[in-house]
Amino acid sequence: MKKAEDIKKKISYSRKNFWLDTTKNEQKAAMKFSENYKKFLNVCKTERESIDYTIEELQTKMFLNLDDPTIKDSSKFVYKVFKNKAIAIAVIGKSPISEGVNIVAAHIDTPRVDLKQSPLSEDAETRLGLMKTHYYGGVKKYQWMSTPLSLHGIVIKSDGEVVNINIGENENDPVFVMPDLLPHLARKEQMGKTMGEGVSAGNMNLVFNSIPFYEDKEEIKNGVKLQALNLLYEKYGIKEEDLLSAELQLVPSGKARDGGIDKSMIISYGQDDRVCSYTALQALEDVKEISIDKTSIVYLFDKEEVGSDSVGGATSVFFTDFIADLLKHNGEDSGSFNLRKTLINSNVLSADVNAAINPNFPSVHEAQNAVHMGYGVALAKFTGSGGKGGSNDATTEFMNKVIRLFNDEKVNWQIGSLGKVDEGGGGTIAKFLAKHGCNVIDCGPGVLGMHSLYELTSKADVYSTYKAYKAFLSKA
Ligand code: MN
Ligand code: MN
Repeated sequence: MKKAEDIKKKISYSRKNFWLDTTKNEQKAAMKFSENYKKFLNVCKTERESIDYTIEELQTKMFLNLDDPTIKDSSKFVYKVFKNKAIAIAVIGKSPISEGVNIVAAHIDTPRVDLKQSPLSEDAETRLGLMKTHYYGGVKKYQWMSTPLSLHGIVIKSDGEVVNINIGENENDPVFVMPDLLPHLARKEQMGKTMGEGVSAGNMNLVFNSIPFYEDKEEIKNGVKLQALNLLYEKYGIKEEDLLSAELQLVPSGKARDGGIDKSMIISYGQDDRVCSYTALQALEDVKEISIDKTSIVYLFDKEEVGSDSVGGATSVFFTDFIADLLKHNGEDSGSFNLRKTLINSNVLSADVNAAINPNFPSVHEAQNAVHMGYGVALAKFTGSGGKGGSNDATTEFMNKVIRLFNDEKVNWQIGSLGKVDEGGGGTIAKFLAKHGCNVIDCGPGVLGMHSLYELTSKADVYSTYKAYKAFLSKA
């Protein structure tokens, strides 16, 4: 009996619960770390807001903009914003960049409901002012009905002036809803349909206003729509044509909160993938304070939720262009050959969340290979669906190297695949970065209720993710 236990201890593996495995100090640090993370979630609900926050943060930490013509060649802490949609930040190490860099790459876009390009209309029957919408990313449409929404975004006026919109986050702001159907009348319209068909994109109109524009008590045709435009013009100087090029996004209104009676978790919109964006940024800021050999880089990309295309996505030239800029800035050859070799010599964590095993729907997970809340950051060798279709498959050599690093640095980690093999699947930006020949593996915390309005994470996993990224950026 004794022998079996000794052998078991020596050669078998089981994932470790952070709360049992770590010291009280470590647990306190995890709790404390989440306080600023919640603040980040509250002010960064869109990709542009995430970039604005990041720039502000970097400037207080003395990072310099590579696009600033007065930047000194000797600056070791630099960043670059790409088309206001993506950002990259680097701490330049002592070794030549061409020997390879360590990268943590996350995304800052989130599933949401966008306004259509020509959004405003007036419903003739109800005389309500409506905003037409177009959902973005993998959402379950019904979740977005009858829940308070805020309007965030940017409108550029005909004279070029930029207007930032943020309605619904302050206590005195109004909020908006897309009204769902009452159950009393939903028997045929919704209840007999599949869940995917119960709410269609065409049902997702936002009620924007209800008071008509009037002159001397005269009723004006489409007066409700006119009054909506009038209010927008009075408040922001925006005309209807300005809306046609705007980016306006509906996101859940409200703030990140502690989850659970023990406050061990966080409930918030947008933790996929702001949990990785935030932890990566914090890790890089810490790396700045230590002397490192290899250059450390954090990328925050747009458009992951819709396939990583478009100008700020991980498939854009920005990924390689920033490295070329760094080579040039560091006095190294930034030509195509050297750039390719730099990328091939580089290590990447594709920093994205994973699906934690859900006690309400255990049948889609395979517990032994799934991510468990509170057991640390998850490493996913591959993603994809079915027979690993469309996945990045990290090499065993690279995965082993990362695991050894995490063990050395006392990072709580676990393996994690998305779900049972034939249940579905999903991908990350990993495969787009691997195309350039870098070593890439997916690494991030588990999330419960991913892509819902209120995603749940464990503070233990958030903190473990930060520790993992810091170890990787400074020592991989
Ligand atoms: Mn993600
Ligand atoms: Mn996602």
